[in-house]
Amino acid sequence: MATTTLPVKSIVTKGGEDGILLVIHGGAGGRGRHSTPERVAQTRKDLERALEAGYAQLEAGASAEEAVVAAVHVMEDAPEFNAGRGAALTSDGIAQMDACLMGGDGEVGAVTGVRTVKNPIDAARAVKEQTKHVLFAEPQDKELEDWGVETREESYFITEQRKQSLLEAQRDGDEWEKHGTIGAVARDAQGHLAAATSTGGITNQMHGRVGDTPLPGCGTYANDETVAASGTGIGEAYIRTVACHQVSERVRFAGQSALDSASDTLDDIAAHRGYGGLIVLPAKGEGVIAYNSEMMNCGYQSPTDSYVQA
Ligand code: ASP
Repeated sequence: MATTTLPVKSIVTKGGEDGILLVIHGGAGGRGRHSTPERVAQTRKDLERALEAGYAQLEAGASAEEAVVAAVHVMEDAPEFNAGRGAALTSDGIAQMDACLMGGDGEVGAVTGVRTVKNPIDAARAVKEQTKHVLFAEPQDKELEDWGVETREESYFITEQRKQSLLEAQRDGDEWEKHGTIGAVARDAQGHLAAATSTGGITNQMHGRVGDTPLPGCGTYANDETVAASGTGIGEAYIRTVACHQVSERVRFAGQSALDSASDTLDDIAAHRGYGGLIVLPAKGEGVIAYNSEMMNCGYQSPTDSYVQA
């Protein structure tokens, strides 16, 4: 039961009552002291490109999974976001990345602690499609090669901006106010759902720390009968509340709408010393973006409407 709450802001999609729909996020948090109008404009452009890439898949009749992977690729490659290139750095200066991909049929794959995979979501997908397992920690070169995922030198992921953030976090205390994890949820023409989330975690996190992103049910979840959901925020609170699964079960057992479910789950997250955002796409009905942080990078594309917030 929530004892502390933060005001929840929400956006409901338009034109996505049924049929194809894509909702994405590029992290919840605060603007951070290095935000500039140019960087905000760049983030907005990247979100638009991610929506275009993902929605093109849905329009072409591809699966919800193809759509979320396409959208996530764009954001993983864009250094403004905390995923792939531009990932947040651990206390020892390493980009240690996590990702999860889940289909509404319950099939799921995830990785934690990857350091060389260009698009960590591809490694998560490989775990889902090419192994009998669900979650891999620090997959080695041999596995990555077998899975056919593209790799890069560790230095590729480390940007000047993130080095600066790490220095500041270590000098001034942890920088919990700025995040940038990315995620996408989609419904395809067949009515199937999928969710994908990818992150570098939290700046100055201890080496080996695992957040909510790669844990099915916590930062990522999809069930064709309820919702697809992806979270961003203080991962520890998303794990304590099993946030994305909680959204689903509120819909399933309490009969809540996607909006009420996301909002009540954010209250529970606040009660567990966290804050952040959720994107939720129900099996039927409009998608929801909800957050109790200062801001959230996000957007959606429906057959008749599109929206981006950065
Ligand atoms: N949830 C992510 C984590 O805790 C961080 C974020 O969303 O900013 O790893």
